[in-house]
Amino acid sequence: MASETTAARNPADRAWPLWLAGEPAPAASGRTFAVHNPATGQPLAQVAEADAADVDAAAQRARDALDSGTWAKLSARDRGRLLRRLAELIERHADELAELETRNNGKPIFESRQIDLPMTAAVFDYYAGWADKIEGAVLPVSGPFHAYTQREPVGVVAAITPWNFPLLLASWKLAPALACGCVVLHKPAEQTPLTALRLGELAAEAGFPPGVWSVLPGYGPTAGAALATHPLVDKIAFTGSTAVGHEVMRLAASSNKRVSLELGGKSPNIVFPDADLDAAARGAYNAIFYGKGEVCAAGSRLLVDRRIHDVFLAKLLDRARRLAPGDPMHPKTKLGPLVSQEQLDRVLGYIATGRREGAQLAIGGERASVPGHERGYFLSPTIFDQAQPDMAIVREEIFGPVLATMDFSDFDDAIARANATSYGLAAGVWTRDLALAHRAARALKAGTVWINTYNQYDPAAPFGGFRQSGFGRELGRPALDLYTETKTVWVNLEN
Ligand code: ADP
Repeated sequence: MASETTAARNPADRAWPLWLAGEPAPAASGRTFAVHNPATGQPLAQVAEADAADVDAAAQRARDALDSGTWAKLSARDRGRLLRRLAELIERHADELAELETRNNGKPIFESRQIDLPMTAAVFDYYAGWADKIEGAVLPVSGPFHAYTQREPVGVVAAITPWNFPLLLASWKLAPALACGCVVLHKPAEQTPLTALRLGELAAEAGFPPGVWSVLPGYGPTAGAALATHPLVDKIAFTGSTAVGHEVMRLAASSNKRVSLELGGKSPNIVFPDADLDAAARGAYNAIFYGKGEVCAAGSRLLVDRRIHDVFLAKLLDRARRLAPGDPMHPKTKLGPLVSQEQLDRVLGYIATGRREGAQLAIGGERASVPGHERGYFLSPTIFDQAQPDMAIVREEIFGPVLATMDFSDFDDAIARANATSYGLAAGVWTRDLALAHRAARALKAGTVWINTYNQYDPAAPFGGFRQSGFGRELGRPALDLYTETKTVWVNLEN
């Protein structure tokens, strides 16, 4: 325990090899790469760098485990037991994992410890329960036949995940895949591979057999592309940007892999004039500033009824004024640094564009200085008012704590503006009118609609996008469809 805690405090004190088929291994090339602490800008650890050769080795071992080895022979109930044991290990190591997540990603320790870690454990626990409940059906076909379906694992699953929720978004893919009897190759984002590597180690401790679980940190165009094209990989489960999602789908098409994509968003948060305005202001604030706004479902477009605009914005600004970026390891910090210099530059670029295009900067907009962390990638919480539909800050995903506010005149105008986007991940609606709330939920083109709340997630609640936000639903029962094939069996009863 003591040494693990030390490793979380100073990850440079240990080696970070690949996790290859259930064991530590150096990269075949011998190469490593540095990962950074965004709160200090300093290197945090050296990590083995997987490329095509390592992907090939892991894929061969995965295939063997699936086709002949111990995994295939394990009962569904025993698979569930392994997942539950892993959930328990995650809970037991939650302090260490939360600290590692915060040091690598920059998200406040409060979020890592209170949200990411409990939910990661809950996702493994939830799918542990599904493992022995994945059933086929007897089909009412015509003729002298007995016909039935059975659900079989789709096979070798490659999970490619982003840096914003390194552990949690991995669990959304790995837990249902394993519950369905698949084997997994996980490529975490190159910025944030540390907790994924620890998760692989904990999976071995839980008893997952060799071959079933590999973690292959590395870069997208090398390790990621090798996964997307490898002939032994059956399915790609991807979360990341829309542009890379397109590329992954294109790469996977040549071998007809199954693909599910959870991509970007530009989610609208609509405040009707009869809403509880204090609750809505708190909701709008959390919708954009939770997770530093590096959240695919962030409520990054705020739509406010013209009649309440001034009073509502005053409430929101009052909250934003009290949100100071700070050391993410401090338990009271609510806004940490952005993940990297590159991301900070990108977000600052959008802020400059917003100003140039004529949006009114109501608060923030600058790099923030945090005493003792002068080289960290901090940004002050930023709110634009008077944004217009054709501005880049309204149309494009910024992926940072930057809110674009627009007015609307009535219900139809609100819905038209909300749906005027190529994305469709999530939406929020604030009103006390029950019928209006459900009318809005029906009209909004989004995979999730939150009414009088925002950013709610649960392992039982499916999540995914319409349109450019991707396809396939993670979490809940629908995720089982992503990791199984349905086989139909016909039996002639007259033979
Ligand atoms: P973000 O914008 O959140 O950084 P990206 O879409 O750039 O997201 O990255 C998400 C994941 O996709 C990361 O693990 C990244 O390494 C991986 N990736 C990037 N490019 C490719 C590619 N060409 N093929 C496969 N995976 C890739």
